[in-house]
Amino acid sequence: MSEAGDGHVTANAAPDTGVGLEITGGSAGELVGPKGTTTLRSRRLPLASPSEQIAVLESVRLDGCPSGGSFDRAIADSGAEELRAGEVGILQINVGKLCNMTCRHCHVDAGPDRGRESMDRATAEACIRALDLTEAHTVDLTGGAPELNPNFRFLVEEARARGRHVIDRCNLTVLLLKRNRDLPDWLADQGVEVVCSLPHHRQRNTDAQRGNGTFTRSIEALHRLNEAGYGLGDPDRLLTLVANPVGAVLAGSQCSMETEWKRGLERNHGVTFDRLITLNNLPISRFLEWLQDSGNLEAYMELLVKSFNPATVGGLMCRTTLSIGWDGSIYDCDFNQMLELDSRTGSGEMNIRDFDPAALSGRRIVTGRHCFGCTAGAGSSCGGALE
Ligand code: SF4
Ligand code: SF4
Repeated sequence: MSEAGDGHVTANAAPDTGVGLEITGGSAGELVGPKGTTTLRSRRLPLASPSEQIAVLESVRLDGCPSGGSFDRAIADSGAEELRAGEVGILQINVGKLCNMTCRHCHVDAGPDRGRESMDRATAEACIRALDLTEAHTVDLTGGAPELNPNFRFLVEEARARGRHVIDRCNLTVLLLKRNRDLPDWLADQGVEVVCSLPHHRQRNTDAQRGNGTFTRSIEALHRLNEAGYGLGDPDRLLTLVANPVGAVLAGSQCSMETEWKRGLERNHGVTFDRLITLNNLPISRFLEWLQDSGNLEAYMELLVKSFNPATVGGLMCRTTLSIGWDGSIYDCDFNQMLELDSRTGSGEMNIRDFDPAALSGRRIVTGRHCFGCTAGAGSSCGGALE
C-alpha cells in the first residue's frame, strides 16, 4: 500500500495476545513496525462496525458513474441474471480473526487482539458434518492466521481423509512461530495447497503494506516451504502466491506479474513457487480506513464502478462458495462475512450446526457496493483473476 496515507496512524505495538505468539529470530512487536497499524477494534473506531462500513460506502457520490453505483443494476445492465448460488464447490472456513500480523489492507480487521473470535471444536466438527452433506471439492481454510486456531490440524486431517482438496491461506510469517516449526513438513505430508500472501516481490512494497520486517520473514518462510518440497512443480505440494495492489489501484495482469514475480524471487532470493494469483483490494475494513484517511475513497470507488467487467460475472466466487464464520454463521463469501451480511435463506439466517444444503441452494446472493471490487478489471476472487 502507498505510504501516502500512513503518517496519521499511531504505530502502537500490538496488544498481547495471551496465546504466546513467539517469533523465532525476533519479537511479535517487530511484526508491527513503523508502517504497521493496529486493529480498528482495538482503537474503538466507528469503522470497526460493519454497518458503519456499509454506510460509508453508500455515502460515496457515484451518481455520474454507470449504473449510478448500484451493483445490482450493473449486473442487470450487463444482461446477466441476478446472482444466485449454485452447487457448493468450495467450503471456505474462516476459523477466526486472530493473526500475528496487522496489515494495513486487511479486510478482516484481524490482529493479535482478536483471539476471542476463534472457532471452537464443536463448530469445527459441525463444519465437517456439513462437508459430508456436500460435494464440495475444496476446503479453503482462512482467518486471521488459520494455523493459530487449535482446530486447524483437525480440519485439515478430516477434510483430507474425505479426499477433498485443502487450501491453507497462509501469511507466511506465521510459519516462523516456534510452535509451527514442523508445519511446512506436516502440510506437505497432508498434501495441502499453501496459498501465501506476498503483496510484492520487492521488500519496500511488501513492508509498506504488511509492516517492516515482513518481507525478510516471508522470504525465510518461503525457503522453509521450498525445503519441504513446495513450489517445485509437485501437484501435491502446490505453493501459490497472492499479490494484491499496494495502493488505490486495480490488480495488474496476473500472467505478466507471475513471470515478473518468478524471475525476481528466484534471482534475488532463490525462492520458487508454482503460480501467482492477483486480487483487488475490496473497500472494507482497514483498507476502507486507509482509503478514507488518504483521500482516495471516492476515486477508488469510481475506479471500481467504471471498471465493471461483465465478463467476470459468470465466475464470481459467491456462486459456488459457502463461507463459514468462526461462530458457524453462513455467508456467501468472506467479504460478506466481514460485513456481517448473512446468507439469505427462505427461513432466515442459518448456522452450520443446522446446515441444510437444500435451503441454501439457489439462494439470492447478498450484494452491496463492495462487490464492485470483484468485477473490476480482470475480476477478483479467492482463486485470483476471473478473466
Ligand atoms: S491481511 Fe492476513 S496476515 Fe494481514 S492481518 Fe489480515 S489476516 Fe493477518
Ligand atoms: S463481494 Fe462476495 S457477494 Fe459480492 S460479488 Fe464478491 S464474492 Fe460475490
